[in-house]
Amino acid sequence: MIPAEFDYAAPATLDEAIGLLQEHGDEAKILTGGHSLVPLMKLRLARPGMVVDLRKIDQLSAIEMDNGSLRIGAAATHDAIQHSDLVSGHCAMLCECAGEIGDLQVRNAGTIGGSVVHADPAADWPAGLLAADASMVLVGPGGERTVAASDFFVGLMESAIGEGEILTAVSIPAQSAQGGAYLKMAQQASGFALCGVAALVQVEGGNVTSAKVGITGVANTPYRAAAVEAAVSGGLEAAAGHAADGVTPLDDIHASSAYRSHLAAVFTRRALETAAARAGGSA
Ligand SMILES: Cc1cc2nc3c(=O)[nH]c(=O)nc-3n(C[C@H](O)[C@H](O)[C@H](O)COP(=O)(O)OP(=O)(O)OC[C@H]3O[C@@H](n4cnc5c(N)ncnc54)[C@H](O)[C@@H]3O)c2cc1C
Repeated sequence: MIPAEFDYAAPATLDEAIGLLQEHGDEAKILTGGHSLVPLMKLRLARPGMVVDLRKIDQLSAIEMDNGSLRIGAAATHDAIQHSDLVSGHCAMLCECAGEIGDLQVRNAGTIGGSVVHADPAADWPAGLLAADASMVLVGPGGERTVAASDFFVGLMESAIGEGEILTAVSIPAQSAQGGAYLKMAQQASGFALCGVAALVQVEGGNVTSAKVGITGVANTPYRAAAVEAAVSGGLEAAAGHAADGVTPLDDIHASSAYRSHLAAVFTRRALETAAARAGGSA
């Protein structure tokens, strides 16, 4: 449980960090909260020769409005996001999502950027960010580019981040939803999601007329539940029955694929109902 030897740098600027990644190539690994990287290093499943700690780059922790979009710095902790008035006013569902992650220690150290780049299929953020139509802002030697959340989670523990790139922020556009919710069935030992569902809804005359639904924990990548969204105006229970359409639910020691499918339908219905009940309150 002791990591292999490594060098450590804590640059004060983004340019310096990009330079270090270029200089050390494959040997370099970024660290923010360390809650996923350090366990891998202790198990020697990761053996970086150079660890580049981003936490001294102040701009990466900022949470601010940027031309009508909410910009959450990649090094903002889960706890900072959970308790941010700005996030709550823009899309309160994301505060709920942050509050469901691990325990207080994990939320105090872990960051949104580390979580999305790590791309654990049972992580909470991807569901919320997919439902909220978020984009990832990436900076590398070639400049800045933006990748939609729907294109970012490409495989099991695999994101669309490129060689030498740093995730600097997550951008969340203005929301038209009237209600939102994130609900999760946690694996009891780790807290990770067996199934986590984020829902944002519009309501007219007491009925849900449109919804955006992101699901994590069920398949090998988080996904937007397009079949649920297409069916939602026909009733929430029937629509929720489509929660696992088009995906192959995971089957492992924690839950069978049949159980995960069942959880997806149940938690989707509950998330839609909760979001609808909150419409007029907070999305
Ligand atoms: C006991 C425990 C319980 C947990 N429970 C949950 C849970 O219930 N739900 C959940 O979602 N998560 C959970 N987690 C994971 C937690 O949310 C981690 O904080 C998160 O997965 C990684 O964030 P980090 O900031 O610690 O990243 P790090 O460990 O520092 O980095 C993770 C990976 O991302 C890369 N990286 C980090 N930041 C950047 C960046 N800005 N740009 C490019 N690459 C970057 C690193 O190189 C590394 O590969 C748990 C973790 C622990 C230890």
